[in-house]
Amino acid sequence: MAKSPTKSEKYVYLFGNKKADGNGSMKPLLGGKGANLAEMTRIGLPVPPGFTITTEVCTYYYANKRTYPKALQGQIEAGVANMEGLLGKKFGDMQKPLLVSVRSGARDSMPGMMDTILNLGLNDQTVVALERSSGNARFAWDCYRRFIQMYGDVVMGVQKRAGEDHEPFETVIEGLKNELFPGQPHIEDTKIDLDGLKELVKRFKALVKERTGQEFPTNPWDQLKGAIGAVFGSWMNDRAIVYRRKYGIPSEWGTAVNVQAMVFGNTGSKSGSGVAFTRDPASGEKVFYGEFLMNAQGEDVVAGVRTPEPVAQLKNELPQAFAELEQVRKTLESHFKDMQDFEFTIEDGKLFMLQTRNGKRTGLAAVRIAVEMVKEKLITWETAVTRVPAEQLDQVLAPIFDRAAVKAAKVIAKGLPAGPGAATGRIYFNAERAVEAAHAGQKVLLVRVETSPEDLRGMIAAEGILTARGGVSSHAALVARQMGKVCVCGASALHVDYGAKTLEVGGTVYKEGDYLSIDGTLGEVYAGEIKTAASEVVQVLVEKSLSPKDSPIYQNFAQLMTWCNKATRMTVRTNADSPAQAANAVAFGATGIGLCRTEHMFFEGNRIDAMREMILAENTEDRKKALAKLLPYQRDDFAGIFRELKGLPATIRFLDPPLHEFLPHEDAAIKDLSKKMGVSADAISKRVSELHEFNPMLGHRGCRLGIAYPEISEMQARAVFEAAAQVQKEGIKVKPEIMIPLVGFPKELQLQLEVVHQVAAEVAKEKKTKINYMVGTMIEIPRGALVADDIAKDAQFFSFGTNDLTQTTLGMSRDDSGSFLPKYQELEIVKKNPFASVDQTGVGKLMEMAVELGRKTRPDIKLGICGEHGGDPDSVKFCQRIGLRYVSCSPFRVPVARLAAAQAAIEGAKAKKK
Ligand code: PEP
Ligand code: MG
Repeated sequence: MAKSPTKSEKYVYLFGNKKADGNGSMKPLLGGKGANLAEMTRIGLPVPPGFTITTEVCTYYYANKRTYPKALQGQIEAGVANMEGLLGKKFGDMQKPLLVSVRSGARDSMPGMMDTILNLGLNDQTVVALERSSGNARFAWDCYRRFIQMYGDVVMGVQKRAGEDHEPFETVIEGLKNELFPGQPHIEDTKIDLDGLKELVKRFKALVKERTGQEFPTNPWDQLKGAIGAVFGSWMNDRAIVYRRKYGIPSEWGTAVNVQAMVFGNTGSKSGSGVAFTRDPASGEKVFYGEFLMNAQGEDVVAGVRTPEPVAQLKNELPQAFAELEQVRKTLESHFKDMQDFEFTIEDGKLFMLQTRNGKRTGLAAVRIAVEMVKEKLITWETAVTRVPAEQLDQVLAPIFDRAAVKAAKVIAKGLPAGPGAATGRIYFNAERAVEAAHAGQKVLLVRVETSPEDLRGMIAAEGILTARGGVSSHAALVARQMGKVCVCGASALHVDYGAKTLEVGGTVYKEGDYLSIDGTLGEVYAGEIKTAASEVVQVLVEKSLSPKDSPIYQNFAQLMTWCNKATRMTVRTNADSPAQAANAVAFGATGIGLCRTEHMFFEGNRIDAMREMILAENTEDRKKALAKLLPYQRDDFAGIFRELKGLPATIRFLDPPLHEFLPHEDAAIKDLSKKMGVSADAISKRVSELHEFNPMLGHRGCRLGIAYPEISEMQARAVFEAAAQVQKEGIKVKPEIMIPLVGFPKELQLQLEVVHQVAAEVAKEKKTKINYMVGTMIEIPRGALVADDIAKDAQFFSFGTNDLTQTTLGMSRDDSGSFLPKYQELEIVKKNPFASVDQTGVGKLMEMAVELGRKTRPDIKLGICGEHGGDPDSVKFCQRIGLRYVSCSPFRVPVARLAAAQAAIEGAKAKKK
């Protein structure tokens, strides 16, 4: 017997005429589109009637070999009957035929990823009836040819074959246009007359027969069945799977199917279709933003086949419908309390709403909208904080073109500013080649006439996307914005020749692999490569080259960060190894250093020589000599860092050098070092090979070094305390926190502690001062977590080194996992890269255990994280849940982590209330 995962027997939810079975809160069951169609119907907006088949049917469909629950057919028939009753039309009728649209609708919108069929119910008879009832023959036949085209593509699989650059139906249209308008290249579809459309219907049917061997179905009920199956089937198509993987949408959610009475935007000059946003989704400005096409169906706007007009233009063309639309814009925002992205159709001057959803927006827009909606009293500041996806804040910090470089550059074309930011790269004309080039390490711009969902992989790989056709709500634009990709759309001066792999513009030909640059904020295309520059926030905070009062972008950012501080429980520190990095991080709001990797301080200039001498030393005396050279460098760096921090704490991690990174391997380098050290090259080579390790990551690193050679830790402790004494004398507070790495045995920590305390006492005596400091450890190998209660007897703090903790818990080399992890992600063995986002069920369990054990011994133990995960929003939220006091991440991730930490606090408080 087939198993039934469904909970209820109600599979179909009706809506129409101000009444709906569902509502806006039912997205898991009805999908985003279905739930909001119900909600809009309830609040009295003009929505054509229809019904939603639930996501449970999708789950059933896949669990039962692509079949449906028994009760479904009857409920669908009742749904159709309901529409017929409300509209006085009949499905398949020869007088007044009811035509429907069939659309997908997942819980989270997946723009363009799944299938849609419009004008369903047409055949050779009903088209005549439609001709009669509408009094508009051209319109009726236009609907019919569109229906065959969509149904043929989506349900019957008449699609582009490998190696073809155009859709086969579009090729037929182009062919007919060439016959009808010889020598005239850019003819709009609306110029094809009635006979032309009839001819297209004939040719389309022949194309379907030729490609599939089947006749086009004529019975509307068969058509409906096929369309519903195709929409459910599209949940598992390749591009939907790629999209879900990228955005972490579980495949179990399934899609709903919406069947809705058609309204027509293509009945003539008083009709049209559009997509609009209640605010500008690129900048966030509170303007009515969007576009429409007169005498067209909605798909034309989204597909980017014709370039639409700005929505404000509608005021001149259909003033009454525009006024109504303005009212709808207000109603939508005050009801949904978020920026809405909606689709509408005007049929003979009457407005209909076909969809609304919370609009996708750029990071820049997300911040502005959130801040302004608080000012408008639409939302609270807590809601504003949760509205900006932490990951997206990165875009506010994204680079722009260097001003001088862009001034000198040549604008070769203009398009629509569809995804803000600056991108430069080598151009590629198809997705596969773009992906290959990106994998080979090139910066890539994907250039297409227009993009379709098949281009998704190429868009992910590219720095930016440039299209010759399409508007700001075209597929390319929507997807680019969501990914935070720079995008310029509809740059019509570009002539792309896919066959020759060239782009011609203004008489110049660019070949695949040549450089272009695009500005997705202005919509400009430039020849060549252009240097990029820092964002306004970075200019204000880091470069200090822009005044806060001249940058509204910065002001909104700063307001959001102020609210974050109000909400947050965890603080955010930074991983910084130099005074400059510390200064940047503090400018971004870091509350101290969570990890100073002292070995990084020795990469520069002459320092590496002294470091190499130290590593290569064969006895304590030689090592001490080398250490004496390193001491002043360390002391000065620490002093610089303390000065920048002005009393904020600095966690200084003792040397953890992967030795192989510091040793010379090539002959020239060995010779050079031999000269500097006055030791023979042979002796150096011999020592290098003695120090060779098979597995350096599990070798002589971390505290093992300080245990074998305590003089190293002694030098480091002296550098810290002498710097502290010096800066303290200058009247600046210092808070050093010495951190011992890679501890697994309590005794390891104890031995290092002895050294630290002894040097601290010596320096205090020598400098006649008192220095407050803490000593703690990293928890970065499983044994450390397992005996955390014992370790906490000596450690005043724990900082989770989740890079090594992941490496050692998973037994996966952090340096080598790139060769197999992508496969693991593809097969969903791991949901996310565990080196980027904490493996919460594995590594996370060890962290939780260490927190609990540590607190048992030392209730006030200070707990933090300093692995790269400290800048990953999901990991930050996890850290809050297990009770860490701070996270530490790279300087430019600090704002992202601050936002994630604030969101974690707000969400945590909400969950508690419940
Ligand atoms: C860690 O292991 O997480 C860590 C922060 O140390 P490193 O990356 O320097 O090994
Ligand atoms: Mg480590």
